[in-house]
Amino acid sequence: MAQLLGPLLRALLLCQAAATGNFVHHSYKEMVQALFAVQNECPYVTRIYSLGHSVQGRHLYVLEFSDYPGLHEPLEPEFKYVGNMHGNEVLGRELLLQLSEFLCEEYRRGNERITRLIHDTRIHIMPSMNPDGYEVAANQSPTTNGYLTGRNNANGVDLNRNFPDLNTIMYHNEKSSGPNHHIPLPNNWRSQVEPETAAVIQWISSYNFVLSANLHGGAVVANYPYDKSHSQRVRGQWTTTNTPTPDDKLFQKLAKTYSYAHGWMHQGWNCGDYFADGITNGASWYSLSKGMQDFNYLYTNCFEITLELSCNKFPPQEDLEREWLANREALVAFMEEVHQGIKGMVLDENNNGIVGAVLSVQGIGHDVTSGDQGDYFRLLLPGTYAVTASARGYQPQTVSVTVGPAGPSLVSCARRAGRPGCVGPALPRGRHGPRLGAWCWGCSNRRWGRLPVTRSLGWGSPLPEWGNGEDGASREVGSSPRFVGPDVQPVPMPP
Ligand SMILES: [Zn+2]
Repeated sequence: MAQLLGPLLRALLLCQAAATGNFVHHSYKEMVQALFAVQNECPYVTRIYSLGHSVQGRHLYVLEFSDYPGLHEPLEPEFKYVGNMHGNEVLGRELLLQLSEFLCEEYRRGNERITRLIHDTRIHIMPSMNPDGYEVAANQSPTTNGYLTGRNNANGVDLNRNFPDLNTIMYHNEKSSGPNHHIPLPNNWRSQVEPETAAVIQWISSYNFVLSANLHGGAVVANYPYDKSHSQRVRGQWTTTNTPTPDDKLFQKLAKTYSYAHGWMHQGWNCGDYFADGITNGASWYSLSKGMQDFNYLYTNCFEITLELSCNKFPPQEDLEREWLANREALVAFMEEVHQGIKGMVLDENNNGIVGAVLSVQGIGHDVTSGDQGDYFRLLLPGTYAVTASARGYQPQTVSVTVGPAGPSLVSCARRAGRPGCVGPALPRGRHGPRLGAWCWGCSNRRWGRLPVTRSLGWGSPLPEWGNGEDGASREVGSSPRFVGPDVQPVPMPP
């Protein structure tokens, strides 16, 4: 009998494991295995790379989803999710692993919405920015569950208080009409930051990220910049006061996109706190200096918000499935927001991209710059805007641009008497959908080459909903999987 019971018990345990799926906490080793498993499942649309190492030598892995992994395609925006920056706030880490599996599975099933997202967006997912802290938090015994144990990195530093403080410079610049974006780093920044922070700064300097979220726990709210209060210090503390960015309305909309797509965040009452619409300006909640979201906004083109996702920083395993179902739509809907606004090319007379051209929107004191190939992305709410492109050696030019809620492509072409007039679009047909029109900007003699190609990025038709099966499991099933893209060299499993 006992001989029979052993295999029976094992079979039962296996069934149970299958039933609970992957809703388990992942140690560092298990997290790495899970990332590489996704990469193996979806090799043509994923890539794994490491930003470097934590203090204790763990890799800071990123999983990328794209139809051309490893390449920036002009006009295809870069998006990122960062989890587990505080080592003891672990829900984001598990959600990002779930999201990775979900994107891969749905892509393979031919889910139209996910396929479109992966084809039109380059998505970077870093489940853990603080793998050392996680191990400390995860290895506590249940009785010694210190609220802050494992929050910091292995040098005892809070990584969300470790980025160079650019707010102080920005707040000064506001008064003196100094630069309103891409605030330079202090010369000695490297000596001031931790290895994990340095790796992230390098990362966000090398990719032209457009939109991002940083996943935390301990509350349930979508928090948007600024985090650092504008007000003077009172007894060594920055006072809490609403400190909006020039993109305040846009940030509120981005935060609401998450909170309203989330199971309960938008309801406002969570963890004993109330936040109207489930969102808050960071500094009006509590002021913090040297945080990552403000740094993204002030140092790069990236708009980042901070998502507080669970009252319990280290939720029990049995909560993970419910949390995933509450966050799944929000995680996808927030990524889709990267396509809101305008984007285009800034080109010279030979149709070469101009790097670092500045795009300014009248009435919004925060500029963005064009990336390595001359493409730019400017998140904007629906409306009509005067947009000016300037680059060294070229005459600045302004055009009027209308962004619709989900409008059709905006294609326009202006001719001016005595000017070189319109030239054809600079983009190849095909990969980016319909041929885009071009404005002739900068039509001075011989220097007429700046040709921003601008269109509204709305997707035109409502996006398909997830199925509403009671288990939340019914999903769109479309045509068979379509794999495109070059061969991708597998990254060897680390020792
Ligand atoms: Zn946190």
